[in-house]
Amino acid sequence: MYEFNYHRPASLKEAKKILSGASDAKIVAGGMTLLPAMKFRLARPSDLVDLAGVSELQGIREKGDRLEIGAMTRHAVVAHSDLVRSRIPALADLAASIGDPQVRNRGTLGGSIANSDPAADYPAAVLALDAVIKTDKREIPADRFFTGMFETALAADEILTSVVFIRPKRAAYAKFPNPASRYAVVGVMVAEYAKAVRVAITGAGPCAFRTPQLERALSGNFSVAALDGLQIDAGDLNSDMHATAEYRAHLVMVMARRAVAAACA
Ligand SMILES: Cc1cc2nc3c(=O)[nH]c(=O)nc-3n(C[C@H](O)[C@H](O)[C@H](O)COP(=O)(O)OP(=O)(O)OC[C@H]3O[C@@H](n4cnc5c(N)ncnc54)[C@H](O)[C@@H]3O)c2cc1C
Repeated sequence: MYEFNYHRPASLKEAKKILSGASDAKIVAGGMTLLPAMKFRLARPSDLVDLAGVSELQGIREKGDRLEIGAMTRHAVVAHSDLVRSRIPALADLAASIGDPQVRNRGTLGGSIANSDPAADYPAAVLALDAVIKTDKREIPADRFFTGMFETALAADEILTSVVFIRPKRAAYAKFPNPASRYAVVGVMVAEYAKAVRVAITGAGPCAFRTPQLERALSGNFSVAALDGLQIDAGDLNSDMHATAEYRAHLVMVMARRAVAAACA
């Protein structure tokens, strides 16, 4: 590790002031990704702005058919929340499937989404549950948030403050986890709404994405049978030491069928 200035603001206003005043500041949430990146010298910020003391960024609130979850809410809190479990059980299940207890007790919703790891679980929920990402400057629809591998629509000095999820009629998440890290080799979230079905895939491409092909098939016939005979094109999918693009394309359909079956159960 090398020298940097550490700040622990008590409010969003204070955090913004520190971020705009430093030469190359970075936000730290739980440090689950950022601290290893710093140890490997992949990130060398001049200042770290720790959001752990900013209470405005914590918590889960219900507003009509929406659940708003603060950016600093840890995965374990979402997994164990009675409110999330009763309103969007698929989201609580997804949070419970992340990593191990240590990771779930440090990692945050905001850190996961801002990081846009291609194998992270939450991006699938953000896209499938038609979420809105709130920042200190604006609101970003899920469909415009993930722009590439480890890239998002966030500006360097922008603070993600909360994510608003829209409650579906039914939804489920199925993932094929890496046996060591539990990151998704492929994860699929399906969500049925009154007027549309949304299907989002993580782990398979450079960043999470929706599949119009599966959404069309499931709209009007939300059943496993509606997926019969469908295949995903492996052309744009990732190939790495964990799985080839062709294997990931196969896994997408297996996970999609499992997710629909779980949502219908
Ligand atoms: C061993 C291990 C296993 C894991 N397994 C899984 C898994 O199975 N599934 C999964 O989805 N994830 C997994 N993760 C990732 C983990 O769950 C965290 O979500 C991820 O590492 C981000 O951690 P963090 O919230 O501590 O953010 P940090 O590491 O603190 O920050 C990550 C990035 O986001 C930025 N950032 C953080 N908060 C904000 C904010 N509010 N506004 C703007 N930018 C922000 C930071 O500047 C940094 O660039 C795993 C991680 C580890 C170490």
